[in-house]
Amino acid sequence: MITSRVFAGRRYAVLGLARSGLATVEALIASGAGVTAWDDREEARDDAMALGADIGNPLDIDLVGFAGVVVSPGVPLNRHPIAVHAREAHVPVIGDIELFAEAGGDLPPHKVVGITGTNGKSTVTALVTHMLEAAGVPALMGGNIGLPILSRDPLPGGGVYVLELSSYQIDLSHSLACDIAVLTNLSPDHLDRYDGFAGYTASKARLFSLQHRDQVAIVAVDDDPSKMIASRVNHRLHRVSGKDIDPADQARWPALQGPHNAQNAVCAIAVCRVLGLNDEQIERGLATYKSLPHRMELVGEADGVRWFNDSKATNAASAAPALAAFPPAPDQRLHWIAGGKAKGDGLAACRPWFGHVKRAYLIGEAMAPFAAEIGDAIPVERSGDLATAVRQAAAAARPGDIVLLSPACASFDQFSDYEQRGDAFRALVQALGA
Ligand code: ADP
Repeated sequence: MITSRVFAGRRYAVLGLARSGLATVEALIASGAGVTAWDDREEARDDAMALGADIGNPLDIDLVGFAGVVVSPGVPLNRHPIAVHAREAHVPVIGDIELFAEAGGDLPPHKVVGITGTNGKSTVTALVTHMLEAAGVPALMGGNIGLPILSRDPLPGGGVYVLELSSYQIDLSHSLACDIAVLTNLSPDHLDRYDGFAGYTASKARLFSLQHRDQVAIVAVDDDPSKMIASRVNHRLHRVSGKDIDPADQARWPALQGPHNAQNAVCAIAVCRVLGLNDEQIERGLATYKSLPHRMELVGEADGVRWFNDSKATNAASAAPALAAFPPAPDQRLHWIAGGKAKGDGLAACRPWFGHVKRAYLIGEAMAPFAAEIGDAIPVERSGDLATAVRQAAAAARPGDIVLLSPACASFDQFSDYEQRGDAFRALVQALGA
């Protein structure tokens, strides 16, 4: 567990007691802090009490004198009353990443890499961590990916913490100065929680303004909003582009196919170079990387048909590269399962690749709007749900074909999250005998 003397004698409120909330309670108490914890679920409150926390809803408490209110990134700060209540008491609203940053001074010498962007964050985080480990450098993933960072044992001296940072986690950080900060790309997403696209990009840009002069920014400048953010960085900056990757090199990295992964690879390579890895170590890391579940994951192959689970593609910008990765060939046709809870950005980003798709199978709330948007561009099945889509695609697919679940939508209309959707897809495919 990560603890720090800086928390001793302070009092924190912790709102939201899922995995990372409970890890926060435990780390703060072990550091000598007092904690007032709250969750609407009674079992979660019992868990916090067992760890030594007092129970109380921070909304009902006078927060004056508290060192911070720790919330989970799932709390929508633009609407939730805790934001105003804490501001009135002059108490910062923070996340576990902020606590990690504040604890940094008590950890053995280390580096922090922070990775943000609309898409590719998890891939770059996992890839950098893998490349470092393959080169013998102690590394730990945290943030959006993996186990809560405060529950992990500190790395030995010379270690690298690689943090996947959503814009919400950046909003909840004030003293996080990453030795290396990375922006993969920017396109409209999460607009329900920000004041338009400008608010969302400003949140991402803050990761760089929190850095010190001698720290390094890495920005993939393949889209205009990212270019603009790069132009405003006035400390050390590396501009990179997916186009810098030679396709002949990329061909040697099996889990990093497609143009989006060229962008992810170029970001990870830039990080590893700054951290001092040599060409040979970098190549070994790229070549031995294995893809994360639900990201272009091959989940079955039967009768010559390959089934890919890309359930993590929750917006059109992340589904587009999956479509791009499968150009049509006489013996390879692409069947695309899409839909779910639409996020409002439509399918515009996917349109350039409609020519790759033989047939689309639409599900969920987005079925009718997607069908209307696709029009005559692709033959469409109104499948409704995932099981029907899988059955229809299995009936239509011929040897050599690809069936791809890349929904371009959130999952919350029919599933609890993208992982449950991807797991359901894998189970349906396995039931086909694939
Ligand atoms: P994040 O953690 O930012 O959501 P992931 O690495 O988990 O990103 O990838 C999410 C989805 O986005 C996957 O479906 C993947 O195919 C797609 N994707 C990954 N990297 C990129 C990229 N650089 N640009 C666009 N889409 C991407």
